[in-house]
Amino acid sequence: MDENDGIWVFSEVHELSLELLGKARQLADAIETNLSVISVGASSKTDDYFHHGADQVLSITNPILETFQVDTYVDALSSLANQKKPELILIGATRSGLELAPRLAERLKTGCVTEAISMEPDADKEFILMDRVSMGGTTIETHASRSKPQIVTVARGIFAPMHPDSSRTGEEIEVNPEIKSSTTKILHQKTIPNSTSLRSPSMVVCIGRGLKTKSDVTMIEKFAERLGADVVPTRSLAEDLKLLSAEKWLGFTGQRVGPNLCLTCGISGQPETVSGFSNSHIVISINSDPSARIFGFSDYAIIGDFHEIIPKLMKIIGHLD
Ligand SMILES: Cc1cc2nc3c(=O)[nH]c(=O)nc-3n(C[C@H](O)[C@H](O)[C@H](O)COP(=O)(O)OP(=O)(O)OC[C@H]3O[C@@H](n4cnc5c(N)ncnc54)[C@H](O)[C@@H]3O)c2cc1C
Repeated sequence: MDENDGIWVFSEVHELSLELLGKARQLADAIETNLSVISVGASSKTDDYFHHGADQVLSITNPILETFQVDTYVDALSSLANQKKPELILIGATRSGLELAPRLAERLKTGCVTEAISMEPDADKEFILMDRVSMGGTTIETHASRSKPQIVTVARGIFAPMHPDSSRTGEEIEVNPEIKSSTTKILHQKTIPNSTSLRSPSMVVCIGRGLKTKSDVTMIEKFAERLGADVVPTRSLAEDLKLLSAEKWLGFTGQRVGPNLCLTCGISGQPETVSGFSNSHIVISINSDPSARIFGFSDYAIIGDFHEIIPKLMKIIGHLD
């Protein structure tokens, strides 16, 4: 009999943990198992995890983990996984998560799928089938693990958090996995400003196939200029419709932006695209379809035709032609 049971979520970025919990909750319900989140350090977020789908919070407060050093995190998670034997571990595909996941897989002698864009149980509910983009973005391949725990990394913006349910509660468990001291020592740390290839990283207008003509693009470019923002298209708009430079598209196979304000216009919200702006501080989306997926990744939704909305916004910002 399979001794592995339970799904775990780990990311040092809280919002990403909530997105992973959103998908993991669906998987846990589908295969009828428990969902736990790994929390490192004293956390005030425990209730938030429960409200977003976690059944348990496995809390590690060992001060060695205060600074991310990959070997200590591998020790902690592998020691816990050897004790508790989860069947699936979802790790946020941040820079740290992408260092951690393959090393953890090697330590546990299991496989690792990086940057999954969808996950579903197989027909026997035995393994999770995971899709990822490969071949420079030209192919989507489906992976099935042959060992457990299955380890997968997921980038921001791929899955939506569940709608929070404040009546959900769970169990917080203090755990104390065995962790050796790191083999490297950080002598000092210096914060560097966020860098981006864009001219004006504080504001970006992202545009998609909702725009149909060159004059639509010109309208948005004028609006962006007034805002002091850059314009970045989706791949289809750039590559298929050729309405903007094809070197600059957004997403998995293009660039990722993380401005303070991202306004999306005529974008449906496919994971390949959303990953391109999911690190934005605030996302406002204009879409004429009230059920558009993009709204699940937006802080503010403007439902309507951008041909009407953009002139109104121009007026509001006091720059009407
Ligand atoms: C392997 C693979 C990799 C890919 N990689 C990327 C990638 O890296 N980057 C990328 O961008 N894409 C990528 N794609 C393509 C991506 O999946 C999208 O299909 C594509 O970018 C189109 O998305 P869109 O949002 O521009 O357009 P659509 O999905 O067509 O959505 C258009 C939206 O505009 C809305 N709309 C229409 N008219 C109006 C109006 N007048 N006012 C307001 N809203 C309106 C509609 O309601 C709709 O939601 C990839 C695809 C594959 C298969």
